[in-house]
Amino acid sequence: MDFRLPEELEMLRRQVRRFVDEDMIPVERETCEGEELKPEWRSRFEARAKDLGIWLMDVPEAYGGVGMGLMASVVVWEEFARTIALPARGAGITGPHVRAILYELDDEMKQRYLFPVLRGEKKACFAQTEPDAGSDPGSMRTTAVRDGDHYVVNGVKRFITGAGKADFMQLMAATDRAKGSSGGISCFIVDMDTPGVRLGAQYQTMMGDRPWEIIFENVRVPVRHRVGAEGDGFKFAQKWLGVGRVNHGARALGVAQRCLELATSYARQRVTFGKPLADRQAIQFMLADIHINLEAARLLVYKAATLIEAGEDARVEAFTCKYFADEMAFKAADACMQIHGGIGLTTDLPIEKMWRQQRSYRITEGASEVMKMVIARHVLRTV
Ligand SMILES: Cc1cc2nc3c(=O)[nH]c(=O)nc-3n(C[C@H](O)[C@H](O)[C@H](O)COP(=O)(O)OP(=O)(O)OC[C@H]3O[C@@H](n4cnc5c(N)ncnc54)[C@H](O)[C@@H]3O)c2cc1C
Repeated sequence: MDFRLPEELEMLRRQVRRFVDEDMIPVERETCEGEELKPEWRSRFEARAKDLGIWLMDVPEAYGGVGMGLMASVVVWEEFARTIALPARGAGITGPHVRAILYELDDEMKQRYLFPVLRGEKKACFAQTEPDAGSDPGSMRTTAVRDGDHYVVNGVKRFITGAGKADFMQLMAATDRAKGSSGGISCFIVDMDTPGVRLGAQYQTMMGDRPWEIIFENVRVPVRHRVGAEGDGFKFAQKWLGVGRVNHGARALGVAQRCLELATSYARQRVTFGKPLADRQAIQFMLADIHINLEAARLLVYKAATLIEAGEDARVEAFTCKYFADEMAFKAADACMQIHGGIGLTTDLPIEKMWRQQRSYRITEGASEVMKMVIARHVLRTV
């Protein structure tokens, strides 16, 4: 077993790290308005991403992308997460965000949805969560009832990122509520301007993200807008979410790495009671804990990414890495804040923002308890 990354990935890491250190960290408090990257910074960062060859990095070569493997993407996400210059959720700077769902469409639907997204002409959001169904999407109440060559959709979705700017949504709806997550959920492409689709409340969150509620009243969706077979929606979502969980893990590594760098540097220079904080064992142990847990998380994230890239079923590894890395990075941000004292609570430093973001990741895209629930099922089945 070789614990070193291949040289081309190390080279990629060095290049992206230089980009982050030189172009992003010095301006990281000015680049965003709320949770949106300001247009002037977006165009600068995107130009640099193109120079580095990471534009459309996740998009397969057949669709004009670079077709990088998951491990290469992990390296990029890990480095980007060392700064708060980029919004944590939503579109990045390596090209439009293309969810894997769109590659499952037939040719005509790809022309209408996938290619416009790739060209930056259309934006999509993903609508699964509901007021009464978050961690347990199998209990969702939004229904899609077949009526000839259409489905009729009724219900409410909640906390949908980017719904206000989206042209269409990737909607998960129940086609058979009795079956729930075992074949009762289907995925649809729905234009936001379809009659009966309406934006509801927009939520304010402690991270600055402002997700939306979407209301559906007798929305007629053509059958050909269903992705895959009826009832396959949950199966698809689980497959795609594996990559999302590794992505979470990678971002958590970057956050913890930056917190370790900030905390170590501050501990060396801050003198209390006649000695630098770095000389105190209480502080040294905090730094050691961040380091130890970061090393462990990195192994988990790289293992899950490597298995997924090799085409293996790595659901449990993806859950494990999401759980461990997101919890680890929150603790790292918290310890970093503690070491900084009062200055760590100010918005002059990136720590409080990383702390708020990491707190949210213990809930969103798979809450920690739900990750553990699935891991426990695996343990009880296999050990
Ligand atoms: C900023 C933001 C952006 C979001 N973006 C999107 C989006 O774009 N699209 C989308 O579809 N959704 C989105 N979400 C929704 C998000 O994924 C859900 O909030 C998340 O999945 C948790 O669901 P919930 O809020 O209903 O919590 P619940 O499912 O009600 O859980 C509440 C608590 O109970 C715990 N819990 C639940 N079940 C169990 C159990 N069996 N055993 C023990 N503990 C349990 C959970 O871990 C959690 O701590 C977003 C949310 C936020 C805040």
